Amino acid sequence: MSARSLTVLMNAGPWLSVPPPGYGGIENVIATLVPELRRLGVRVVLASVGSSTLPVDEQISVFPDGQFAALQRPYNQVCGIAQAHLAGVVRELHSRDDIDLVHDHVEAVGLATLAAMGPAGPPTLHTLHWDLAKHPALYGTLDGGDRVRVNGVSASQLARAPLALREHSVGHVHLSTPLAVDADRRPRPDKGEHLLILGRINPGKGQDVGARLAHRVGIPLVLAGPVGPYHRPADLAAAGDEARQNPDVRFFLDEVAPHVDGDLVRWVGTVAGQERDDLLASARASLFPLRWEEPGGTAVVESLALGTPVVATARGCLPELIEHGRTGLLTADEEELADLVLAAELLDPDECRRVAAQRFTPAVMAQRYVELYERVRQSASAP
Ligand code: UDP
Repeated sequence: MSARSLTVLMNAGPWLSVPPPGYGGIENVIATLVPELRRLGVRVVLASVGSSTLPVDEQISVFPDGQFAALQRPYNQVCGIAQAHLAGVVRELHSRDDIDLVHDHVEAVGLATLAAMGPAGPPTLHTLHWDLAKHPALYGTLDGGDRVRVNGVSASQLARAPLALREHSVGHVHLSTPLAVDADRRPRPDKGEHLLILGRINPGKGQDVGARLAHRVGIPLVLAGPVGPYHRPADLAAAGDEARQNPDVRFFLDEVAPHVDGDLVRWVGTVAGQERDDLLASARASLFPLRWEEPGGTAVVESLALGTPVVATARGCLPELIEHGRTGLLTADEEELADLVLAAELLDPDECRRVAAQRFTPAVMAQRYVELYERVRQSASAP
């Protein structure tokens, strides 16, 4: 069957609308992927919360009123309710032959539901979004025979995944960003002096290392991203001691905040839209002093697309995304990052944009997914 006649049920899960209102990694990936799939002739049925606004061929409000958005119910309870909703929808569409395949992004909801259907379920591709070595339990019960397949968002993520999961893998697809489209035609804001760390404030992302580095070399650093559930400095300040129950808040207050002086090192909270893009495009370099194996690195790709070289510890997918000496500088040694930040001035912003516009466009990502959909369908129909 050609891509033209393929109908995919895309499960975005019960939490955020697509596209997401602000931070929302998985929902952003879906919002980037779906328009390109439709351009390739794929029919997309979106299972998401009712408030999603992404244009699709059909939207099913599997999770009707956004009641889960605030996570006011316990996680397991939300997942259980969402699984029941989704199972009903999938069963009906599949029995009517209305879908060829499910592309799922939500392991505790979609994958759990589809795997439990076994041979009676539709062919399913589940995209892995996590550092799987850290979450082996999530996939402990993966079954569903040949009908359920997985893909990673980088080769390194898959290499670290438990064997039981790798056996179900059909490969990896690097994340993309709409920012990489027409990279050459985008306005180029002047480069500023600042370094930027864009991402959730979290020990794995290493904002504490970055903050100490900034003071050592005397280069301004902007930290952008949420601290746990707090998106603005004022919200965190107002939350008082209770906020410390969140481990990311404790990390920020204990390890990062002592270096945040509001002058050389600033935390600006979550940024979005044009503000985010301008901050990224005008940075002298994006810094990723990682302490975890970054699985997909959306912010890395976004940085390149906006012409900002990347300086990072060579962990997770970074060596796959960054060409050392061309689009960024990588080191295995955290202590070397300061030297690399200074050397990054020699890298060409236009080259970063060119590479992103070739390798990480939404069209490239969608084309690759169409290939994987075919593989999933073939293995599901094999005798
Ligand atoms: N992001 C954002 N505003 C922020 C911080 C992050 O829009 O203040 C976005 C960022 O641009 C990227 C995503 O959140 O698209 C983070 O994805 P990534 O894969 O880099 O990290 P994750 O949080 O998934 O580990």
